[in-house]
Amino acid sequence: MERYQGKSIAWGIAEGKIFPYVKDRYQVEKIRKKDPEGEIERYRRTEEEAIRQLGEAYDKAVEIVGARSASLFEMQAMLLKEGHFREPVEQMIREMRVCAEYAVASQGRKLARACQQLTDERERRTEADIRDISKRLLALLSGQGYASPIGQEPVILMAREISPGELLQMERSLVLGLVTEVGMADSHTAILAAAMQIPFVAGIPFRPGWSGKTAVVDGRLGEVIVEPDEDQLEKIHRRCQEEKWEQERLEAYVQKEDVTLDGDRIPLLANIGELFELEAARHSRAAGIGLFRSEFLYMERETYPSEEEQFQIYRQIVQEMQGQPVVIRTLDIGADKQADYFRLEGEINPAMGYRGIRISLDREELFKTQLKALFRAAMYGDLSVLYPMITSLEEVEAIREIVCDIREEMDAKKIPYGKMRQGIMIETPAAVMISDLLAEKVDFFSIGTNDLTQYTMAADRQNPRVSHLCSSRHPAVLRMIQMTVKNGHRKGIPVTICGELAADREMTQKLIGMGVDALSVSPNQILPLRKELRSITVREH
Ligand code: PEP
Ligand code: MG
Repeated sequence: MERYQGKSIAWGIAEGKIFPYVKDRYQVEKIRKKDPEGEIERYRRTEEEAIRQLGEAYDKAVEIVGARSASLFEMQAMLLKEGHFREPVEQMIREMRVCAEYAVASQGRKLARACQQLTDERERRTEADIRDISKRLLALLSGQGYASPIGQEPVILMAREISPGELLQMERSLVLGLVTEVGMADSHTAILAAAMQIPFVAGIPFRPGWSGKTAVVDGRLGEVIVEPDEDQLEKIHRRCQEEKWEQERLEAYVQKEDVTLDGDRIPLLANIGELFELEAARHSRAAGIGLFRSEFLYMERETYPSEEEQFQIYRQIVQEMQGQPVVIRTLDIGADKQADYFRLEGEINPAMGYRGIRISLDREELFKTQLKALFRAAMYGDLSVLYPMITSLEEVEAIREIVCDIREEMDAKKIPYGKMRQGIMIETPAAVMISDLLAEKVDFFSIGTNDLTQYTMAADRQNPRVSHLCSSRHPAVLRMIQMTVKNGHRKGIPVTICGELAADREMTQKLIGMGVDALSVSPNQILPLRKELRSITVREH
């Protein structure tokens, strides 16, 4: 038995035989062709088929994860339609009189290499898209189709890296679990795996030698056990069964109220970043949306989303929540979240750089477009707006002025809009220290413990080497929370926590004891948290 610790990407336990997924399996030979025009014709037919398949993959992905996450298939189809492959491939076939396979393989490599040279996140992603497209074209040219590499038996798929396209082409029932060397919790593959309920662990070196070995993937603990012994297997089966029962028991909490044993109501809200997550939020009967991370609307695309486009999405969220409160955070791009068309310059210390509200206040038109869309959507339900990365009173005043201008402009143009409560994220130590003053200017606070912890502890939340320091349970962070709650309450405004700490059930009693008014967590955390909440008392009886 060997145990390997990786990163938890998608929860769940899987047991099965390992199938190492070796990519780029096509041995392409340089075959001379007497009839280059015929070969070009063959390439064109293949390209058409690839575009058709990508359309199908897009439709399938939309059903599983929604249009935004599915858009990468549109992107790949676009790269083909715009001729990025066609032009160099046809030129090569014509000039060198080689077969289409050879031209696709070499031009694909060339295009991917050109992307590699670019330092930009977006272009690095294009490199993955190009590799994906080359594979699809080669598979089609070889007559094999772009089929799943897995046979008839369900397996644990092991790869260096897996693209969303590759995952989608596999039959769900044949993929028991996923183990990769490279993979991030916020990647599209991770979102897909979670939506498809495939346990997923990353950070495990790729070992083709494990082929056929039995393994257990524990997505929650981020653990892979290869060739577990009898004892180990028994323990895992017991845990699987317990988790299943626990899940069934948790279902009983769907209909229960968010109250402590003392009878205090503490709304449990949902954090979401994509529309498809609304379903899970509603299933667990979340009391509302406590945080919609709107930056996802701006990522994976080429240009800024228009006011109308944003309005449609915000309205849909508000309407689908049927009168329950919805909090939408304005754009928090920068640091770990990038979009190429923003043309953000590389920074030595991006987490402390040009991000969040700093960008919104600097690029006023962009900010105004988002606010107008939000105000219009506020007509359709209970909508609040939340501003990220606040550090000063001046920022809040600047926001208020912009909000005022927007209202005047909309009044003048007779554009109907609704009321929107104005809140700020408390996620910098500066905001905590002036929370008494900030509380006079806004309607609510939402504490972002993820950033508050990294800034308080001076420990980058993205850097695994300092992750032991980045603990939201540190007394320094807890004191910051206490101070924020006191200052908020003194001015009569509610204080929510929307960072990961809100889902830490060992801390629930402490946080409620501090007076936190509501907790906002990812949808799958709501039921376990409701169970915890209903078992605690914070008053002396
Ligand atoms: C936080 O910082 O705690 C937070 C909720 O925001 P994000 O994780 O999106 O930075
Ligand atoms: Mg944050």
